[in-house]
This record gives sequence, C-alpha cells and structure tokens, in this order.
Amino acid sequence: MQFLTSLQELLFPPHCLGCGLPSAPLCSRCKNSFPLDNHQIHIGRVTVYSAVNYNAVTRRILLAAKEDGVRSADDLIVSALHHSLLYAMRNTDNQPILVPIPSASRAVRTRGRDFVQEISKRLSPLVGLPVQNLLRHNRMVNDQSRLDASGRFKNLDGAITLTKRPIRVHEVFLIDDLVTTGATLNEAVRTLEVSGFKVAGAVTALVSLPLR
Ligand SMILES: [Zn+2]
Repeated sequence: MQFLTSLQELLFPPHCLGCGLPSAPLCSRCKNSFPLDNHQIHIGRVTVYSAVNYNAVTRRILLAAKEDGVRSADDLIVSALHHSLLYAMRNTDNQPILVPIPSASRAVRTRGRDFVQEISKRLSPLVGLPVQNLLRHNRMVNDQSRLDASGRFKNLDGAITLTKRPIRVHEVFLIDDLVTTGATLNEAVRTLEVSGFKVAGAVTALVSLPLR
C-alpha cells in the first residue's frame, strides 16, 4: 500500500488540495483559508467547538478526505479536530470518551470506511482519550445535503441509536467532521442523554453558517 502511494506520488506529483497548484498539501494562499481558530456555537445546551469555517477551500479538503481517501487531506481534518478538542478539554476536569457521529451505512459502503470513526481513532492517542463507537443509524436516512434545516431535523428524528448498552455511563465528547444545522448532533445528544450519558461538548473540524 505504501509502495502504491509512493508510486502514485511519483506519477502524479501532489497538488494543493484547495486549488490544484503544484504545492502540496496546501499552497500558501489556500493555507490562509484554513486558519485554526476557536469557533463556538450552541446546539441546544451543548457547545460545539470547531476550528475552521466551511469555505470553498475547506470544502474541497473535506471532500478529498472523505470521498477520495487522500491521506494529506485526512491529516488536515485531524489537525483541525485536534485543535478544537484541546480547546474543548479546557472546559472539563473529567476524562470524557470520544464518540464519533456515525456515517450512514450507504456512505460507509461507498467509501469503504466510516470516515469519522477512522479520524477519531487517529485523534485518540493525540489527546489520551479513548474512542467508543457507541452510535449507529438504525434506519435509512435521506441525503442531508438536499434538505433544508427543518427537513434535516425531521429526517434524523429517531434515526440514531446506541450500538450497545454500555457497562459504565461516561461523559462524552461527540466528534464529527462538519456541523451545519446541528440536526445530526442534536439527535446524537438526545440518544446519549436518554441513556444517562453526559455530553461535555461536540467537537468538529469545520463549521458552516446555519442554513435558512
Ligand atoms: Zn491552493
């Protein structure tokens, strides 16, 4: 696999993930569109910590990671999540577990991996907090990108469930790549709280302005 990656890089020299210029992983201009910052929004009572605004460049980086499995794009998403998580950790004395927001099973089949579960696994040793894949979708959901805000909340109502009844109830940081309306996070928080978990916060790499 490593050999194939090196061969690919030899045949197709890496380009900027944001604009395609021959300067990887990001050219200096696109780097300016990926500044690590501390954004906070609130979904119900839960604070969402994010590092970077969703824009044309960050959208391309996320797609390269999520849909094409480009390793350097994964690295950028992990670095943004790491930044937000360190900030979120300042607001709790406990040692929450990391719980990834699950992908719809159709997306996992197409991509060959559950993207957020995989980047959460990479995040875990960086912050010394364990990951538990506690959540899954329990029914088909429609593609969220075609729905408005209220459609997204309806689409996800009751759609996320626990994978198992845990022996111990923990404090949790929810992990996701991007927050838009917060419909998915809201549903995940509801599922965890009715089972006795305390959600210490949600952490995402990217934050998009709320949809109307
Ligand atoms: Zn660029």
